[in-house]
Amino acid sequence: MQILFLGAPGAGKGTQCKKLAEKLGLPHLSSGDLLREAVKQGTKAGVAAKSFMDKGILVPDDVLIAMFREFLSKPEMDKGFILDGFPRNLPQAESLSTLLTELSKSLTVVINLHTSEDLLVERITGRRTCPNKECNAVYHVKFQAPKQLGVCDKCATELVHRSDDKPDVVKQRLTTYAEQTEPLITYYGNQGIVKTVDGEGEPEEVFDRLVKTLKVPV
Ligand code: AMP
Repeated sequence: MQILFLGAPGAGKGTQCKKLAEKLGLPHLSSGDLLREAVKQGTKAGVAAKSFMDKGILVPDDVLIAMFREFLSKPEMDKGFILDGFPRNLPQAESLSTLLTELSKSLTVVINLHTSEDLLVERITGRRTCPNKECNAVYHVKFQAPKQLGVCDKCATELVHRSDDKPDVVKQRLTTYAEQTEPLITYYGNQGIVKTVDGEGEPEEVFDRLVKTLKVPV
């Protein structure tokens, strides 16, 4: 299965994609996690991306397209994959389509994870993430607190409050989503491959809806 997730920042894409990747044994490619790792490592892509990410606006398309070309061409992607955060605008969607055709692949389904805007802001500003790239677990100070304050349950790394999860940048990220990414729901809708899943409620509840929608054996 080649699955793409669409959804505003805070819709819970990261959490759901990780659970689904584990269940299906598929690689999970998160553009945000890949970019944050590139920034941390100081790679050329990371240096190019940092100032855009700090402002909550999209990193130039060529950076993302080169990055995903490299990852999607790897042999381990032949069993399928889960895309999270890429594509995020129409030019990226067109480039992905060209790339997948070159690789003789196509998207099986696009999941539109839908959540109300008030909940998005509360979810993002309370979010705490594990910066360990092997883990990247996501918590919430109120909805999904770690057992020990500020420490990852899974790998004991100190959790961080992403600088772009702070209120002023969050507003810009939501605007960027509405203007540039939301049109992709219609773009893929016209191809007949979009399924909308209600992203509100406990992560387990949302995951149940997701596996039912995908008709994955429980
Ligand atoms: P995320 O963790 O998915 O919310 O992404 C964090 C930030 O990374 C975004 O606010 C953008 O600055 C950048 N980013 C992630 N994915 C993309 C993409 N497909 N195109 C451009 N910028 C991206």
